[in-house]
Amino acid sequence: MTTYSAFIARVKEVAILGSMGGALRWDRETYMPRKGAAHRGEQLAALSGMIHEAMTSLQMGEWIDALRGADGLSPDEAVNVREVAREYDRQKKIPTALVQELSRVTSRAHEAWLHARKNDDFPGFAPHLERIVALKIAVAEHIGYADDPYDALLDGFEPGLTADAVREMFAPLQSQTVELLHAIVGSTVQPDESLLRRPLSPKKQREFAVQVAADFGFDFDAGRLDISAHPFCAGSHPSDVRMTTRYNEQEPMSALFGVFHETGHGLYEQGLDPDHAYTPCAEAVSLGVHESQSRMWENIIGRSRAFWIGYLPKLKSLYGGALDDVSLDAFHFAINGVKPSLIRVEADELTYNLHILLRFELEVELLNRRLAVTDLPEAWNDRMRRYLTVEPPTDADGVLQDIHWSGGALGYFPTYTLGNLFAAQFAAKMRSDLPDMDAQIAAGRFGDVLDWLRRNIHRQGMRYTSAELVERVAGEPPNGDYLAVYLRDKLAPLYRL
Ligand code: ZN
Repeated sequence: MTTYSAFIARVKEVAILGSMGGALRWDRETYMPRKGAAHRGEQLAALSGMIHEAMTSLQMGEWIDALRGADGLSPDEAVNVREVAREYDRQKKIPTALVQELSRVTSRAHEAWLHARKNDDFPGFAPHLERIVALKIAVAEHIGYADDPYDALLDGFEPGLTADAVREMFAPLQSQTVELLHAIVGSTVQPDESLLRRPLSPKKQREFAVQVAADFGFDFDAGRLDISAHPFCAGSHPSDVRMTTRYNEQEPMSALFGVFHETGHGLYEQGLDPDHAYTPCAEAVSLGVHESQSRMWENIIGRSRAFWIGYLPKLKSLYGGALDDVSLDAFHFAINGVKPSLIRVEADELTYNLHILLRFELEVELLNRRLAVTDLPEAWNDRMRRYLTVEPPTDADGVLQDIHWSGGALGYFPTYTLGNLFAAQFAAKMRSDLPDMDAQIAAGRFGDVLDWLRRNIHRQGMRYTSAELVERVAGEPPNGDYLAVYLRDKLAPLYRL
């Protein structure tokens, strides 16, 4: 057996163990009986221990040393070696004691965050966050970075990207978004969003969502849609992809667009190359590219006028007459309504990116010790006022709203806006490759769109970083202008600006 075949056999074995963890986590969020939680925790801890041990073993280190830059590897084999080595180096650089300390600190911080958010008690959470920031700075120091400790953390979610590169992409977006937002707030035409809150039974919501997901190309013989408190999509293999949503009879759009979103993630997972399963050549590039796929189907396609030409009549028939008075234009305007708001997860397509920008800037300042945790609420509220024209009445609706920091996920937030940004740039290229894209979408035909995504993105696995992939597909590096132009082109006519 050659070194590469021994190495890749172990890599696949570990990926299969990881996929078992995925199935267990999916079950925990959907069907597991409540009393099973502690037992499930033991199962998952045992699995992650086995995975960590295998991936950082002496043997793995020897294989990687022998294979790094070795002659005679095929391009795909070289990709697999490069990516496994990258993860191995990352894990090896962080001392086990630090990993364990982070795990202890974040599990206490999670409890403290839940309590603080419930009681609007930022001072109760602050010491935990201070500890987390200090530990994450230590992690960044161990991993190493050129200019900014932020880079070392961002790299864990978006390999190869730096804070500087993010800033450069976000800059045009920020100024144009703030300008557009202020014009929209001042516009005399506003959508009637109440028509989105006409009740629809969960059964009918599911019927519509499943139909659309199947029309998009999601294979329900290779995936499922179930219910969970926090919607997600978990793919363990192209042949088995689990999506979830939640239904609220009074807010039907939340489940519908939620399923469009998860279907985008699901199509990516189903589109990975099964011949390369369990290796980096059949893994998603990054969180940002994953999110570009969900935003593509949720927003760029799912909130387009073309899409609803075909699907509004279908939705109306499910409503049994209760939506018949709503015109296509009124509906299209309502689902694209923009309103500055306090809570990120409820934000519209335009203001969402301002919520992310604010978090990104604060994280960079925290990690560079330019902002103290105790001053965070004030810095948060100040930016909310400047970017979004609203100010949270409480910290619970402000700095305490997200779970991410309590879990130590600093450097994660930018990937959401990167997803929007990549999606807009991919869509612009797709549109020039498929000139009748809107006509196809209006006719409920998504095959060419999906083929384009499969060919250009899904099948590429981790062969390129996100920035390389964008450049390869779109012909130029990632550029925030595409998202700004896409938003203006859609919103300015709606608000008659
Ligand atoms: Zn997503």
